[in-house]
Amino acid sequence: MNTSKPFNRVVIAGGGTAGWMMAALMSKLLGKQLDIKLVESEEIGTVGVGEATIPALLSFHNLLGINEAEFMAATNATFKLGINFEGWKNIGQDYFHSFGSTGNDHWSAGFQHFWLKGQRDGLARTYTDYNPETVAAFANRFAHVPRSGLNYAYHLDAGRYAKYLRAMSEAHGVQRIEGKIGAVLMDGPQGRDGPITALQMQDGSRIDGDLFIDCTGFRSMLLGEALGVGYEDWSYWLPCDRAVAVQTASVRDAWPYTRSIAHPFGWQWRIPLQHRVGNGLVYSSKEMSDADAPEVLKKNVEGELITQPRVIKFLPGQRDKVWHRNCIAVGLASGFVEPLESTSIHLIQRAAIRLMQTFPSGGIQQADVDEFNAQSKRELEHIRDFIVLHYHVNERTDSALWKHVREMDILPSLHHRIERFRESARVFRPSDELFAENSWVQVMMGQGITPERYHPVADLMGRDELTRFLGDIHLKVSRTVAALPGHQAYVEQLCAPY
Ligand code: FAD
Repeated sequence: MNTSKPFNRVVIAGGGTAGWMMAALMSKLLGKQLDIKLVESEEIGTVGVGEATIPALLSFHNLLGINEAEFMAATNATFKLGINFEGWKNIGQDYFHSFGSTGNDHWSAGFQHFWLKGQRDGLARTYTDYNPETVAAFANRFAHVPRSGLNYAYHLDAGRYAKYLRAMSEAHGVQRIEGKIGAVLMDGPQGRDGPITALQMQDGSRIDGDLFIDCTGFRSMLLGEALGVGYEDWSYWLPCDRAVAVQTASVRDAWPYTRSIAHPFGWQWRIPLQHRVGNGLVYSSKEMSDADAPEVLKKNVEGELITQPRVIKFLPGQRDKVWHRNCIAVGLASGFVEPLESTSIHLIQRAAIRLMQTFPSGGIQQADVDEFNAQSKRELEHIRDFIVLHYHVNERTDSALWKHVREMDILPSLHHRIERFRESARVFRPSDELFAENSWVQVMMGQGITPERYHPVADLMGRDELTRFLGDIHLKVSRTVAALPGHQAYVEQLCAPY
């Protein structure tokens, strides 16, 4: 579809995290040129989860000019240094996937090659002892460290975050419309073969637009229902299709990492905010019924319940394309993989930035649409492969779920990466992929892949030199962490003025 019609009326359908992140960025960057309306329904509400993030969110906040302490106070946020995977390899065996890098890389080879040699020769400590984020996380410490700073993200209250972004968007001219969308109209000259022309509200009013952003959540009322764009089902590789979530009061200081605890039916998250904890189970409906799940969750949380457990059904996968005609789906409407690596909010951010880069102010060009779709597809497929890795390489024998994911046929792209790492400790990754080499190394070794050999450059270091090299890194990490204050105290002090 090519059109030379100018686009300045943008209608965002839905006001969850996706709708308000889109509105905030678009109004901040293009607010003066665009007429932006956002429609949401208090009665329908939002999915109400999505509280762990990754470090890239900091750059989104920089674009928006957000003051970190003000944002953290407004959203009850804490810092996040990574994810502790508990029992994922096997029962009782944990590992940490941290943000940031581990040790020092050489131009020819990553730190893991030197560490593997050190381990073989009995000189190396645990891999994560060379990673400041992991050591700080387990010591429950945090501060902004100048120069050699810790890499971090946030845990935040999703409901408060949407409100915070709403205030910012409205200040930049976004008009919010409360009400339920009754129908999606295509009543232009081409009729139902043409673009979306307006949203028909249940109260009979009509919201016309040039570009429609579908942020209506799993329902995907515009792209999926009205335009009939199909959905690719990934449940063979990711059999979990349910979640149940509940909030509890904090009974201890907030720790600066997400906990991901494997169970026979799937896994559980614990996300500590300043005054409460977000909890949930992600499970396969073949392993546990929706009636049992809330009871199992209640038995696995600490602290008083603030909300009642709520079951959420989902189908892992993605839309065949996220941009069709004059409609772009963002957030849950565009696809979903379970929140094991906290990637959905990041994908909203990426979609928002991508749209700003290709905004069709002079009309839609099909080449832009195709590129937007291709990039979005690749991005989610890379994340899918990384999530599947966590499941596939496991030694658990306590349920059919873990047996299935271990024995299933994985996609050649992932198979190739696992085998190359097993052989040579090298990570083969496309340069535009979200997860860096250090992420793949931590998860592959954490899940139990021990490489057969390391890069020969590591053998250029003699025993004394390698001892000194590893010792210096460990000393620097220990000193950095020892100088940090407690995480909860630091957050309270930072947020106090707000
Ligand atoms: P929703 O929050 O569902 O919002 C949909 C909006 O559309 C609402 O405002 C609703 O009122 C509106 N709407 C729908 N129909 C109509 C209608 N007919 N009329 C008017 N308005 C309508 N992501 C992370 O990054 N980190 C995490 O830790 C994480 N955890 C998650 C855990 C679970 C169990 C799930 C399911 C998701 C998780 N996510 C996580 C994903 C994250 O929650 C979503 O990406 C994010 O909340 C965006 O949701 P959304 O805005 O697309 O949809």
